[in-house]
Amino acid sequence: MKLKEWGMPDWGEKPGAIRVAHVYPGTYKEAMASLGYMTIFSKLNEAEDIVAHRFVLDSPFSLEEGLPLRAYGLIVVSIHFDLQIPLILKYLASQKIPLRKEEREIPIIVGGPATWNPLPLVPIVDAVSIGEGEDHIADAVRGILEHRKEWTHRSVVNTWVKNRAEFARHDLSYRPPAVVSETTAYGRRAVYVEPSRGCNFGCRFCLIGWTKRPRRDRRLSQILDWIADGLENNGEKIYFFASDILGHPHMEKVLETLGEMNVPFSLSSMRYDRLTDEMLDVLRRGGLKSITVAPETASRELKARINKNIPNDGIVDLAKRAKRKGFRSLKLYLLFGIPGETEGDITEIIKLVKDVQKTGINVRASVNPIIPKPHTPMQWAAFPGIDYIKSVNKRMEREIRANTMNPKRAFIQTIISMGDEQVGELLLHAYRDLNYAHWISAAQELGLDLSRYLRESRETPWREIADTGVTDEFLHKEWEKIQMGEFTPPCHERCSLCGVCFP
Ligand code: SF4
Repeated sequence: MKLKEWGMPDWGEKPGAIRVAHVYPGTYKEAMASLGYMTIFSKLNEAEDIVAHRFVLDSPFSLEEGLPLRAYGLIVVSIHFDLQIPLILKYLASQKIPLRKEEREIPIIVGGPATWNPLPLVPIVDAVSIGEGEDHIADAVRGILEHRKEWTHRSVVNTWVKNRAEFARHDLSYRPPAVVSETTAYGRRAVYVEPSRGCNFGCRFCLIGWTKRPRRDRRLSQILDWIADGLENNGEKIYFFASDILGHPHMEKVLETLGEMNVPFSLSSMRYDRLTDEMLDVLRRGGLKSITVAPETASRELKARINKNIPNDGIVDLAKRAKRKGFRSLKLYLLFGIPGETEGDITEIIKLVKDVQKTGINVRASVNPIIPKPHTPMQWAAFPGIDYIKSVNKRMEREIRANTMNPKRAFIQTIISMGDEQVGELLLHAYRDLNYAHWISAAQELGLDLSRYLRESRETPWREIADTGVTDEFLHKEWEKIQMGEFTPPCHERCSLCGVCFP
């Protein structure tokens, strides 16, 4: 693959260094838009005794040297979504890397948001680096090479999760170099910047909200340096990634400065309540033509159940104001399959979208079923069922022309998200094809009853392995609040003593 990149540091000669293949389970363009992947890549290469080279799914060879995976001493994989796990297995198999760890010479370490439940990976990988990896990925690489033979099937997974204090939160003092590529998933020569990490709001379905809480902001000078480096490296647009970008106290100033410099920017998503008239003006001056917000649902009852309280009339008002200020479209993220949901709740979502459409702005609605995530209060929620998802999808597509998710994909994603070691065996049997019938017959061959991963109040074995800092007691209380429809305030209004900041 021919690369056109600027700003990649020269990490120098390292005779005798550990050679790491760092794999992203997506295309080159997606890898270059992944701050998590590029952060770990830089951290590995900054270590004096490690050399890491990039692998992406659209190239069988390393981007740096043009060599196959087997030419490296160790493989590190960053996994961001559950459905990337089958993709990575396919890639490893295509490179003739045995998938079962006991059949393989070369060790594999995985990390990233989709590894907060590491159990389905137990038959496959040698170690899981859980949590924010900047501070411990180099030690994990050294540790696995030194101790791999002593580690047992189960304790290997625990190796990197046993000490909560060690891995729980990175202080954001580190930022990756502002490498710019000619081509990335979100645009040409984009500079990716993370102004903050985590979130204060505690939406009960959100993995990031429960594994990276509370929100931590980067220093203004660090953000400005990051942007300046990116522009110097031929960057043409700044793309900000975070759960609550506009919650950063200096973000308005940063965006205003970019507007004055005529540097276009884009934001991954925005909280509705941050979008004042002044902020809309700042965003327009930065060249934004579209806004994305996530009301998720529309009835008061369900807002309380998911702990996200965005008023419907506020969304309609935002659409009017955005249209007046010249924005072309408003993208809405919506959810269904919330415990206690009724037909009337679905009708209310449709009504909300229709009300927004009436303002005249171009509306793009994306409607997805809840996929229960480990360590969130929704980890005890039932999978809503393929037939139910199909029927809601039909209404959403017909009545508001929404984009929807394939129900059978949602089923497979839930099995992986809520899986255990036996789901790891299922993955090994079924990874080649995400076809539903194929997965069902593979489960039957293994004698695996899939209903236990789908039902309400399922077992949550990942809680014994990975520690997010949130106590079991707090999670149970939040699950009760889902049943009762009660809100919990965000961290900046009142600390609810979840266990993270004051263990
Ligand atoms: S301890 Fe309090 S402030 Fe910290 S994350 Fe939990 S609820 Fe938020």
